Amino acid sequence: MKRKVLLIYTGGTIGMEKDYATGSLHPFNFDNIFRKIPEMNLLECEVSVHSFAHPVDSSDMGPDDWKQIAIMVRDHYESYDGFLILHGTDTMSYTASALSFMLRGLRKPVILTGSQLPIGDLRTDAKENLLTSLYYASLYEKDEAVIQEVAVYFEYKLLRGNRTLKYSAEFFDAYRSPNYPLLGQSGVHLNIGRELLYRPGKDESFCCDLHLSDDVVFWRIFPGMKAEQFLHLPTTKVLILQVFGSGTIFNDPETEGALLRLRKKGIEIVVISQCVSGAISFGKYVNSNIFIKAGAISGHDITAESALTKAMHLIGNPRYRASFAELFATDLCGEISVEK
Ligand code: ASP
Repeated sequence: MKRKVLLIYTGGTIGMEKDYATGSLHPFNFDNIFRKIPEMNLLECEVSVHSFAHPVDSSDMGPDDWKQIAIMVRDHYESYDGFLILHGTDTMSYTASALSFMLRGLRKPVILTGSQLPIGDLRTDAKENLLTSLYYASLYEKDEAVIQEVAVYFEYKLLRGNRTLKYSAEFFDAYRSPNYPLLGQSGVHLNIGRELLYRPGKDESFCCDLHLSDDVVFWRIFPGMKAEQFLHLPTTKVLILQVFGSGTIFNDPETEGALLRLRKKGIEIVVISQCVSGAISFGKYVNSNIFIKAGAISGHDITAESALTKAMHLIGNPRYRASFAELFATDLCGEISVEK
């Protein structure tokens, strides 16, 4: 039986072609994709293409676009076996992370890919990324999808979406998942680390949750930063603070006072690391005690992209009964390495 994949084209480099006369890039009509990559006709799956009305550079994408993609998956969930989202590379990790919180109880693959060079370029990486992503998006065994989560496929690697970050603006090998192993790797064979794949709870059924709050502020601290800057924090419900190493910050009474004041106002403080690999560990150094005193939440080994979208998903979401702190510390869909 031929599996059916819905390909959703949102924009980005992958859908561009080069005008060799002028050297500039412009989007091509994605409905012509089968003519551009005739190999798509050889795949053992049936592909339908849906293109955003106005394909965008992914730096123009945000919560409304994430919702648009989630709704498309929700509305076509029963009619397709898998979903492939073609996306600009710059913010693909944000979209993948957001979708992982919005599309819960997935029993079908949702794969994101893009490319560093346009599809029409002689040396393009788009073709391999697209064809192998389609393979993963249509991979079933004994009538069960092998991948049942939001994943990113790029340059021979299959990664958990909410663990990824864009690592290189230059190399084809552009994504990393520093705190979680690769889900799969394609070489001569297309391999999958089955024991690493996410599986929803047995009784969990698919649901699409569109709640995304914009009451989240993201700050990166830096050496020499003045505590008084915390007084200028815009009105918000959550402050994600990207701090040093395993969770350290300036050990001075002003910073402590500032953070305690924010907490008194009811602002949740989530602490994540500026290091891309490793985890926050409160109490390891004196310079993290401030966070314990202030009742800040450890983001553990979460990526910045996941922390931001998880906070947007959780804060004020009527779906949950538990507190924000409790939920943030819980592994909801494979985004942090803590017990479920
Ligand atoms: N600026 C582009 C985007 O993110 C880059 C790319 O697609 O590679 O949409």
